Amino acid sequence: MTRSNPIPMLLFVLALLSATFVACAGDLEEPAGGEVFVVTTTYPLTYIAQRIGGGRVAITQLVKPGVEAHDFEPAPSDARTISEAKLFIFNHPAFEGWALNAASASESGNGGNAGVVIVQTAFLESAVEDHGGQAVDDTTFDPHIWLNPLQAQEQADRILSALVAVDPEGAQLYTRNADGLDVELVALDEQISKRLSSCELDSVVVSHLAFGHMAERYQFKQIGLAGLSPEFESGPSQIAGVIQRIDDLGIRHILQEPIASDRLAQTAATETGAEILALHPLEVRTTDEASRGLSYIDIMQANADSLATALRCG
Ligand SMILES: [Zn+2]
Repeated sequence: MTRSNPIPMLLFVLALLSATFVACAGDLEEPAGGEVFVVTTTYPLTYIAQRIGGGRVAITQLVKPGVEAHDFEPAPSDARTISEAKLFIFNHPAFEGWALNAASASESGNGGNAGVVIVQTAFLESAVEDHGGQAVDDTTFDPHIWLNPLQAQEQADRILSALVAVDPEGAQLYTRNADGLDVELVALDEQISKRLSSCELDSVVVSHLAFGHMAERYQFKQIGLAGLSPEFESGPSQIAGVIQRIDDLGIRHILQEPIASDRLAQTAATETGAEILALHPLEVRTTDEASRGLSYIDIMQANADSLATALRCG
């Protein structure tokens, strides 16, 4: 057991008893406790793990609402939190460069839990090195795969397998929940495809190049005010280039994410007369979105609305 107090053991015994009852009843019941402790890095992973895990899981997300996820640096307490988990779920070292270190620190720390299962949910076409903030319009190095619902589905498959591995008694529930999520992700994909199927423009200006996988799926192009991470802001000559393209392409909207600085978007908007609209990279929710209970699906639908406006879709 990962914790020394007697309550986890009690829960474990209760879980065994309840699993026995479940087996006898031939039905599925969620235990009340949420005794499978899962640690995630960012919001889409929390959403998926919560949907699949239901009442059997208790989730702690390390990058809190409103925090710029690319800038995040874990505290020693985060390694301790990971050490208490059954599962630690992250995207990709290109996004959470700190995740594997924090997980290994959790194994060597006081009371460390060498048994935590580490789940990487994103896999890119190439090994990723520091991309130096180049404004590449290319998904090869782009870790933001959750912005394509069909790739979020692949992340869900990996989270499902991991949950079943660490908590086999929950397998039926997890599989049923994952099937339900699958249906919603496919419906979301169809909805966005339809929304963006007939548009006057094929390019949008975004605050950072988070949308490569979404752009590839729905066939638009992104022009970035910053690179793959918001901190790699473009220099004055690149901004002048973006402003020129806004004029040349007849773009009337600049799509700004809610958490990073909007300084460049404001500059470009002032220069071109373009309007600023929200487009959410969904790394974490804002504190307001979290308190209103807005979900991945809700925010992706709002993203589709903003894209449809910016691309002038029929
Ligand atoms: Zn990003």
